[in-house]
Amino acid sequence: MLRVRFAPSPTGYLHIGSARTFIFNWLYARHHSGTMILRIDDTDIERNTQQSLDSIFEGLKWLDLEWDEFYRQSERDDLHRRAAEEILNKGFAYRDSEGVVRFRVPRETRAEVTFTDLVYGLQTKGTADIEDFALLRSNGAPTYHMASCADDADLRISHIIRGQDHLTNTFKHVLIFEALGVEPPKFAHLPLLIAPDGSKLSKRKHGPVVSVTTYRDAGFLAQSFVNFLCLLGWSPKNDREKMSRQELIDAFTLEGVNKSNATVNFTEEDPFDPKALWLNAEHLKTLPIEELAADLLPFAAEFHVSAEKMLKVAPLIQERIKTLKDVATVADFFFVDQLPPYDAAELIPQKGDLAMARLALEKSREILAATDFNHDALDAAFRAAAAELKIKPGQMFQPIRVAVCGRKNSPPLFETLVVLGRETSLKRIGEAIKKL
Ligand code: GLU
Repeated sequence: MLRVRFAPSPTGYLHIGSARTFIFNWLYARHHSGTMILRIDDTDIERNTQQSLDSIFEGLKWLDLEWDEFYRQSERDDLHRRAAEEILNKGFAYRDSEGVVRFRVPRETRAEVTFTDLVYGLQTKGTADIEDFALLRSNGAPTYHMASCADDADLRISHIIRGQDHLTNTFKHVLIFEALGVEPPKFAHLPLLIAPDGSKLSKRKHGPVVSVTTYRDAGFLAQSFVNFLCLLGWSPKNDREKMSRQELIDAFTLEGVNKSNATVNFTEEDPFDPKALWLNAEHLKTLPIEELAADLLPFAAEFHVSAEKMLKVAPLIQERIKTLKDVATVADFFFVDQLPPYDAAELIPQKGDLAMARLALEKSREILAATDFNHDALDAAFRAAAAELKIKPGQMFQPIRVAVCGRKNSPPLFETLVVLGRETSLKRIGEAIKKL
């Protein structure tokens, strides 16, 4: 039976590297119909905070990641102590002069400790290079090595998938498992996430780009962010990038995990990795419209938009946004009574003049007052008007677009007019004529 665990220490916000570790464990479990365990490694009372625990749950909830079993290490203290006693009683550990229980590394009888990592291959370390490490502190508190291995053994963890920074701990862990008389689990260490300058990602050094909730608040979709994290250090063999959850589960193998560290690309000006943004835009494009509209609503809260209105606007901007947050800059003109000020010069069509702008706007006032407010009727009426005025359709449309949206780039014009409605469209055309 395949059993894996994600074992965060609640000492900071949920780091994107930790989220990726959860995801790889979870994908492996789901791919093999195994069991996903969330174990909170909260034995370090000095450093644990409730805030950190909340941030872990908050991040996992946003990413929509679930687990099958849940444990808190602090509630399993007896088990950890008993395991240490067992090792002590079997003669594999001793109590030093300071009262610390230490593992007795068998340097006389054994030259090295080895294990085969499923990502990094055969790992060997001479016993001469492993110190007699602590299992219980002088106050009797189990160390990370002791608590972690006792739990992994008790929970019958079959595969330990964790960050590469734990690779060297694993020699000690192999010794502990053997001393407990259990077969060590299989190990798979994951390449680190690094910053463009090659340093390990850290909040202190790199700021909010390291925290999962930053991406939520910046308008990333959970499904695309999970997809992005998967591509940091793993790839499906066929170069696919945009993948759904089910596709990720189906494709995930540990063989696909790379050894080299994965770079998260960001700069001070562009805090988000271009690939994360690209993937997000791709996922946005295929989101069912009801879902998109519901996801956009909180990002337009300042405009007090109704759900019905958002449902109409969403299809017009679906292809034009990279993040949910873009709704506030791409679609604001749908939501406000009064357009933000724009430069009257924008109303002048390309290769046209003031007179042409006035002509187009005056004509559009007639059309908008008299035409059925649907795409096809408006389209036909405006094209006929352009022909009649002997100007190009593009020259006809630009002043109208700027008049109703306040900018040259907007969603398709006729759909936009339909959503804005007759009254608002006419009012804005009138204001534009006054501006000229
Ligand atoms: N609590 C450890 C950490 O957060 C767990 C390491 C492990 O997976 O064994 O790094």
